[in-house]
Amino acid sequence: MSKHGMIKTPEDIAILREGGKILATILKEVGDAIVPGVTTKYLDTLAETLIREQGAIPSFLNYTPEGAKTAYPGTLCVSVNDEVVHGIPGERVLEDGDIVDIDLGLEYQGLFVDMAMAVPIGEVDASAKKLLMATREALEAGIRVARAGNTLGDIGYAIEGKVRGYGFTVVEELGGHGVGYAPHEEPHIANYGEQGKGMKLKAGMVLAIEPIVNEGTRFVKLLPDGYTFVTRDHKRSAQFEHTILITDGDAEILTKGS
Ligand code: MG
Repeated sequence: MSKHGMIKTPEDIAILREGGKILATILKEVGDAIVPGVTTKYLDTLAETLIREQGAIPSFLNYTPEGAKTAYPGTLCVSVNDEVVHGIPGERVLEDGDIVDIDLGLEYQGLFVDMAMAVPIGEVDASAKKLLMATREALEAGIRVARAGNTLGDIGYAIEGKVRGYGFTVVEELGGHGVGYAPHEEPHIANYGEQGKGMKLKAGMVLAIEPIVNEGTRFVKLLPDGYTFVTRDHKRSAQFEHTILITDGDAEILTKGS
């Protein structure tokens, strides 16, 4: 079967399943290393080391996504507080009360998986706790309706509904995507939508579902570094992401870990 189609072969799915387990284990370890006083660069180095130890390759490092002018310089995206996505690792020191989104992709035996989570440091305020809960539940809601016969619109509708129920907003410029043969593939998966609209899902599709949720306004801006998005009102943002396999029943979460 074509290496370019949206439907993955059983052999490729078996590899993606292994890669997904590796990624989930590594992201958890990086998450556990998020404590006051560490720099975002430290987390990036840890992620790269753990990936290479598994015989895998960081898939964001030196990758140039569509529309970007330069290659991404890190292994990990680390987006703190009002940073929405694609924060570049550096000398920033993490502090008690921060919420930290870590987004990581790897290539294992030629196939790509992608995962993200938001991690609170120490005691965060009530709104931050609610933001993380809403974003995690939005991901779960999106995954619940991600099955053959449903549509991309069903996923977006489920995610947006959950987010709105909490009084938060969905970033419309950013969303999920196909994944597997490349770090980003068709289709784009909006985190809002109408039930029954958009592309129909088929068994064998592999999708990265990633609600990106703001505490205040949905509007974001891109910093001059060309990668980091921040909220326009500087309120906080959170992201959770899984790579999933579409089946005729419940989706299989490939980045679930063991
Ligand atoms: Mg992604």
